[in-house]
Amino acid sequence: MTGLPAIGFSPEHEELRSWARDFAKREVAPVAEKMDRTDEYPRELARKMGEHGLLGIGTPKEYGGLGLDIVSSVVVAEEIAKVSLSAGLIIGVQNGLVGYPISQFGTPEQKEKYLPRLASGELVGSYGLTEPGAGSDAANIQTRAEKAPDGSYKITGSKMWISQGLLADAVVLFTRTGSPDDGAAGITAFLVDRGTPGFRVGGKLEVIGMRGTGTAELVFDGCEVPGSSMLGSLGDGFLIAMSVLNQGRIGAAAAAVGVASAALEASIEYSKKRSLFGRPLGKFESIRFMMADMATRIEAARLLTYRAAYLRDRGDEFVKEASMAKVFSTETAVWAAERAIQIHGGIGLSKLLPLERYLRDAKILDIVEGTSEVQRWILSREILQD
Ligand SMILES: Cc1cc2nc3c(=O)[nH]c(=O)nc-3n(C[C@H](O)[C@H](O)[C@H](O)COP(=O)(O)OP(=O)(O)OC[C@H]3O[C@@H](n4cnc5c(N)ncnc54)[C@H](O)[C@@H]3O)c2cc1C
Repeated sequence: MTGLPAIGFSPEHEELRSWARDFAKREVAPVAEKMDRTDEYPRELARKMGEHGLLGIGTPKEYGGLGLDIVSSVVVAEEIAKVSLSAGLIIGVQNGLVGYPISQFGTPEQKEKYLPRLASGELVGSYGLTEPGAGSDAANIQTRAEKAPDGSYKITGSKMWISQGLLADAVVLFTRTGSPDDGAAGITAFLVDRGTPGFRVGGKLEVIGMRGTGTAELVFDGCEVPGSSMLGSLGDGFLIAMSVLNQGRIGAAAAAVGVASAALEASIEYSKKRSLFGRPLGKFESIRFMMADMATRIEAARLLTYRAAYLRDRGDEFVKEASMAKVFSTETAVWAAERAIQIHGGIGLSKLLPLERYLRDAKILDIVEGTSEVQRWILSREILQD
């Protein structure tokens, strides 16, 4: 698919944006700084997000979700991440990384068991793909699931950097069921519940950004699950993992647009009130031009992001567009946060303002859900067709 389809928001999308903006201001802003400082998961905020449907935006209505399209998810991701990327991540994990694969590939029993409680926030979900020895090279995961004669599976291995892992009640877990030589074809997904003997949290992992989201290592030591907990079919795991990431990249791009916009808005406001050499900072050409460049790049990132979402909703090919949106938007967010600090001078480097948080958060975005290098790899393959 080439060319830019017309992007227009429906009145419902506009209404959702205005509601999400208001929710972010009212409920997310008061806890954003504390989440970052304490690195504590915001249970109460998560409960409120669940109450308002934000943890099941794309989940079908029959399973307790809002049943909305990807453009709606993107609108919410942008507005919430503008105030707190961490809060945006909680929405992204519950919806995109956990709810989506269960909606798409789950049996009716699995959907019934997990989706309503993920959407309400009663269950905290995690997506367990990355391992100490396999991140970008996801087809190389080593966590094994061995089939027993009674049809159950015994899982052994560990998963690294798992968002919400510290609290996870249910994990979409990717394991190797085939031989190591099978590569991507030997991977199978399972749904593993907290409390299953042999499954434990290995430890909390402290990271520079997206804090308060319970990043942890998960350990599986002979963890036995019934055959009915398999998600999709034997050997479908890699396809499921990639289907999640392809779509998830649109969400990461949207969150990056949110962070970058926050950096620009803070810069505009500060440039009007800070006075230097007898005139407002915003009257200096170099400062004005920085903000002009920020606005232009952010708008380009936004267009790429909404185009990918729009294509996804139409059922068109969107993988290339999602990768373009992810790499451009996340790198724009890092760059815009750094420019915003420059515009603010010393106070920009301090904890008095959230600009340094924007920079730390933005940096996480260009690594998770496929690093910038991985996106360029996907794009170059698409472009060169080799
Ligand atoms: C805060 C946080 C939350 C996370 N949440 C989750 C989660 O919920 N679930 C989950 O499964 N994972 C999660 N991750 C893991 C994340 O997705 C991985 O860290 C990421 O995919 C990169 O993998 P890696 O860390 O193993 O780096 P590596 O894959 O080892 O990459 C190292 C470097 O090599 C580069 N590189 C890789 N491949 C190529 C290539 N082909 N060409 C050129 N350069 C290349 C990378 O871009 C990077 O610069 C999370 C990570 C963090 C930090």
